[in-house]
Amino acid sequence: MNIKVQIIVDDETDNPPIVEEVGCFQRGDLSVETIGLMLQEGKELLANLQQSMVKHQIAAYFTKACRCMNCHSTLARKDSKTILFRSLFGNIEVNSPRFYTCKCQSAGRKSFSPLTSCLSAHTAPELLYLQSKWAALMSYGLTTDLLNEVLPLQVNRATVMRHTHQIARRIENELGDEQVMYMKDANATGGICRCRRILLPWELTADTCMRGTATIEKLAGSR
Ligand SMILES: [Zn+2]
Repeated sequence: MNIKVQIIVDDETDNPPIVEEVGCFQRGDLSVETIGLMLQEGKELLANLQQSMVKHQIAAYFTKACRCMNCHSTLARKDSKTILFRSLFGNIEVNSPRFYTCKCQSAGRKSFSPLTSCLSAHTAPELLYLQSKWAALMSYGLTTDLLNEVLPLQVNRATVMRHTHQIARRIENELGDEQVMYMKDANATGGICRCRRILLPWELTADTCMRGTATIEKLAGSR
């Protein structure tokens, strides 16, 4: 038999919902190998679903973005380029047209790209998150292999390393100047003391808080 997977896109208007097939799987005799989805099928299904979702989201966005916000007339199109958006479920090529500002705007005629201002980055935050989280736990090579194994991705080691370093630099900058300790609540009786390169549980006693000496004692049994 054939098992088909469809998505239904309802734009919440009077338009009829759009039905689109994103997967079709053939199955014969039931066995432990054929029951349910295979890994490769799951990856293809996710990739197709992502492609379809993004396509419809972009189309819905441009039904509004191609019109003047002031007089609602259709904007003149200048040209279009292709953006490669890297998502957790595959890379997607997205058309990004440029429009001229409307004649009703007094400040001269300029061109602009609505999608550029909408998509400030071309890599999904969740992809960066997973790359950096796994790269913090294992090597860049293993991270790359694992991502490509379980997700519809074709990332390479250099990209994973570059993204991880970008995240690390951003976190470093957010920490501010180097401090002996980062515990802000002096009345706390315990918690996580975050240092630049280690994360360890510490105990801060009420007595040391009162004296303001910030003496901290490492919890018994912690690293
Ligand atoms: Zn206008």
